[in-house]
Amino acid sequence: MRTVIPAWEPAHATEPDPDADERLSAAGELLAGRSIVALTGAGVSTASGIPDYRGPDSPRRTPMTLQQFLGSPEFRRHYWARNHLGWRHMDSALPNDAHRALARMPGVTGVITQNVDLLHLKAGSANVLDLHGNYARVRCLSCGATMSRHRLHTILEPLNAGFTARIAGRGALEVAPDADVVIADTTDFTMVDCDCGGVLKPDIVYFGESVPKPVVARAFSMVEQAEALLTLGTSLTVMSGLRFVRHAAKAGKPVVIVNRGATRGDQLATVKVDCDVAHATTRLLELL
Ligand SMILES: [Zn+2]
Repeated sequence: MRTVIPAWEPAHATEPDPDADERLSAAGELLAGRSIVALTGAGVSTASGIPDYRGPDSPRRTPMTLQQFLGSPEFRRHYWARNHLGWRHMDSALPNDAHRALARMPGVTGVITQNVDLLHLKAGSANVLDLHGNYARVRCLSCGATMSRHRLHTILEPLNAGFTARIAGRGALEVAPDADVVIADTTDFTMVDCDCGGVLKPDIVYFGESVPKPVVARAFSMVEQAEALLTLGTSLTVMSGLRFVRHAAKAGKPVVIVNRGATRGDQLATVKVDCDVAHATTRLLELL
């Protein structure tokens, strides 16, 4: 019989749960022998040098919205200038212990990720669904044509040699979760349009934008086919992730939530563990 561990109510947001390991053991019992779908968020990638907008230790930053992007050519130029410098930081990021442990975890049949960094893929996870798209592809908002971010780079680089040199002279850059970097002056950056004249946008679901219906349908089907849901490093603030927790809970499936800090799904969790995701996944790998 499983020990009942009292609910963890931290006095402040960054206080870790002293019973985390006991809760991880309970989570291991719950997940053992079951097929598991994982739902992951920014907390999984912070140790790979990709910051989180909403983690308990994060500086407050406002992510870009689709409305801003569509709103003005100046904003788009500014965004693309920052992306021109930031995307390669994301491209060169490496998986950490959390990605690696999840990729090796028995029973995991798929990974639904809110991250756009492709690190689950790099770690070797199978059946990864990029719920919010990924940084490595660009899409035309008019004709729908796509191209790789690498290809766009080869077009932008010769047009912006002076810009890159000017920024590179300033040293380290702060990079955001969507491959954006923080720089103020981008007026000397040159952006291109699609051959059809349409606006190019990273193939990433921005705030204020919906996840494409076929992607949502595939995610629901992954949840339906699994016997348990394990969420890692997401506060489930946006509905795009929370609905899968609701779906699994409604179907009576065990839901394990691992996150530093509270999540919007805590009430639906069978077991909630407030701890570092790399620690949790490494421990679960031992238990399963
Ligand atoms: Zn086009």
